[in-house]
Amino acid sequence: MKIYFDNIATTKIHPEVYKFMLPCLGENYGNPESLHFFGDESKSTIESSRSNIAQLINSKPEEIIFTSSGTEANNLAVKGVAEACLSIGKHLITSSIEHFSVHHPFKRLEKLGYEVTYLPVDRCGLVNPDDVRKSLRKDTILVSVMHANNEIGSIQPIEEISRVVKENSKAYFHTDAVQSVGYLDVDINKMGVDLLSISAHKFYGPKGVGALYVRKGTRMLPLIEGGVQENGRRAGTHNVPGIAGMGKAVEILKEKREEWATHLISLRDALVKGITNLVEKVHFTGHPQKRLPGHVSLCVEFIEGESMLMLLSAKGIAAASGSTCTSKALRASHVLTALALPAEIIQGSLVLSLSPDNHSSEIEYFLKVFPEIVSRLRNMSPLYTKYLKEKGV
Ligand code: PLP
Repeated sequence: MKIYFDNIATTKIHPEVYKFMLPCLGENYGNPESLHFFGDESKSTIESSRSNIAQLINSKPEEIIFTSSGTEANNLAVKGVAEACLSIGKHLITSSIEHFSVHHPFKRLEKLGYEVTYLPVDRCGLVNPDDVRKSLRKDTILVSVMHANNEIGSIQPIEEISRVVKENSKAYFHTDAVQSVGYLDVDINKMGVDLLSISAHKFYGPKGVGALYVRKGTRMLPLIEGGVQENGRRAGTHNVPGIAGMGKAVEILKEKREEWATHLISLRDALVKGITNLVEKVHFTGHPQKRLPGHVSLCVEFIEGESMLMLLSAKGIAAASGSTCTSKALRASHVLTALALPAEIIQGSLVLSLSPDNHSSEIEYFLKVFPEIVSRLRNMSPLYTKYLKEKGV
C-alpha cells in the first residue's frame, strides 16, 4: 500500500494537466518571443494560461508575471519592492512564521541596511492585525504576511491586515498564497493585496512554474534581467510546458475546488478525531477551524518527528514533519518555535496533508498503524518511561 499524505511538499500532477502539456514538450516547441507561427502558437498558450490565472484571482492578465516557482515569486515580491522603494523608506514588516522563501529575503535585506519588524503570532499561529497597526511607520514600504501556513495550516486574517495597512500607511501588501490557492477563495480585491505569490505544483500542476500577481502601479524592480519577457519584469525564455500546465490546473481548480474542500474536510476531521481517540499526549497545532481543509498538524510527545516519518514510510505512508534532523542536531521549526511550544514537544512534529485523491480507507489504515508506531517509539524513550512512572503506571 502506498499512501501520500505530503501534499504540502508537492501534489501529483492531474492527468488532464499532464495530457495538456504534452504537445508543448513535442511539436509545439516554438519560442514565444519568435516572430513566426511556431512562436505565435507558444505565445497564445502562455496568454491563455495568464488569462486563466487572472480570472481565478480576479486580477487583470497583465498583472500576472510568470516565474520559475513560488520561491522566485516571493523573492521577486520582497526584494523587487524593497529595491524599487529604497528612496521612500527602508522599513519592512513580516510575520515570524513565513516560508523561508519570504523569510530569507527579509534576512538578506536586513544585512543590506533595511529594518525588518517580525510580527509574533498567537498560539494558533495567527497574526494580530493590531500588531500590524502598531508596527507601521512613515517609512514602511512593504508588509508581507502569508495567507495559509504550510506547517500548521492556519489561515491569516488577510482582509483585516490589508485594511489596517491601507488605512494607516502607503506600504504595499504582499501575501504568499502558495498553499492556499488550491483550496480557498483567493480574490486579490477582496483580500486587498498588491502582490500575491502562487505555485503550480501545489495544486496538481507541474513543478518549476509559479506566478506573482502585481497590482498595476506597484513599484517593483526585476530580479532577473536580460530579456524582454514579462514586459521586462522577469527575463528568461518562458517555460511553455510548465505555464500551459499551470493554466490547465487552474481551469480544473475553478471547477473542482469546492467539491475537493468538502471531501478534504471530512477526511481531515476523521483523522483528527481518530488520533485524538487513539493516542494520548498529542498536541494539534495551528488554528482548529481557520485552517486549510486537508491539513492536519500535531506534535506527539516523547518522540521525534523523523523517527515517525521513517516508520510511517516503512508502512507505506508518506508524511512530513516541521522539525528535521541534520547530521548533528535536531533542528526545531521556526514556525513551531514561534507558537511558543516547548522544545521537547516541537521535536515530535508531524504534518499530514491530504489531496482529493485520498480515500477514507487510507485514513482507516493510518489510524490502524499510527498508534502502533507511536507506542513502539515511546517504548524506547526514557522520558516516556519517566512519565509512566510519575503517572503510577
Ligand atoms: N511558500 C509556501 C507557503 C510554501 O509552502 C512553499 C513550498 O513549500 C513555497 C512558498 C515555495 O514554493 P515552490 O516550491 O514553488 O518554490
